[in-house]
Amino acid sequence: MLVVMTHGASPENIADVCTAIAQLGFEARPMPGEQRTAIGVVGNDRRVDDSHIRGLPGVSQVIHVSAPYKQVSREWKAESTVIELSNGTRIGGNEVVVMAGPCAVESEEKLMEVAKVVAESGATILRGGAYKPRTSPYSFQGMGVEGLKILAKARDAYGLAVITEAIDPASADAVGEYADIIQIGARNMQNFALLKHVGQLGKPVMLKRGMSATIKEWLLAAEYILNAGNEQVILCERGIRSFDSATRNVMDITAVALARTLTHLPIIADPAHATGRRDMVAPVARASVAVGADGIMVETHPRPNEALSDGPQSLYPEQLQTLMVQLSQISSALGRPLATLT
Ligand code: PEP
Ligand code: MN
Repeated sequence: MLVVMTHGASPENIADVCTAIAQLGFEARPMPGEQRTAIGVVGNDRRVDDSHIRGLPGVSQVIHVSAPYKQVSREWKAESTVIELSNGTRIGGNEVVVMAGPCAVESEEKLMEVAKVVAESGATILRGGAYKPRTSPYSFQGMGVEGLKILAKARDAYGLAVITEAIDPASADAVGEYADIIQIGARNMQNFALLKHVGQLGKPVMLKRGMSATIKEWLLAAEYILNAGNEQVILCERGIRSFDSATRNVMDITAVALARTLTHLPIIADPAHATGRRDMVAPVARASVAVGADGIMVETHPRPNEALSDGPQSLYPEQLQTLMVQLSQISSALGRPLATLT
């Protein structure tokens, strides 16, 4: 439930509504806005009797949020959430952002090489996994904290922001120390203990859609993070499982457009994990921007055939350059420039 106050409501009016909400056994979250304050009610999993609150001084309107995910919904917050990173990149605003880098941090030398490629391409966010959730326990598991330190060096050298995955609360603490965005991977989308944990770290979190998750489950997973006190959440569509094995997953392009209507959170598209094929990455990236994604995440590697993971879907540096030009043209046509390093 959301209690919208009148323009002229006094601080006492707001305090009284908060007290009334607490008396009902729920938590009040005042959200001051430019025009007026709204007070969110959290803690209820069904409709709240609003008869008392409706009659309090300064109350303009009581809105019952119909979506099961409340704080994530556009009903709760109409204006889009914009997340600003340390290098000035804003995610969820008018600009379209590009995150690029290798699947995994493999060595300092290789990461520095790829960070240069990413910066020169015009992308502003460097990706690279230091903790890798691999399907097989015998596959490369990532460099851990060493990898995070290398990412931080690359960030400092090129002015990029850094996103990297956390796979459990301990790695989330480490990622929170070194990176700008904590990525929660598809395999951990419903790891609720991890979601609650990253909700308390005060760092932006990018939540990838689980490979078999419905849009509702995905948004409810995001709700866990917001409910733990962190509103800086970015959603990422990365393809879902289907009966057809022609591509690694199936890019749910509708989910990108639909999420925009359902939630105020920014949405990123990942055509690399969605398709698993280098030749499909650029077309699906272009489509994702056209359909309204706030940004793209792609994998790139100077020598993809030598990559320790996801080489077949990693772009050659020149392909990244070309893609950036195309994305810039598509986003400009929509009145959204690509984010650049300033
Ligand atoms: C990744 O980004 O490298 C990754 C493992 O992605 P996903 O969780 O989408 O599979
Ligand atoms: Mn990968």
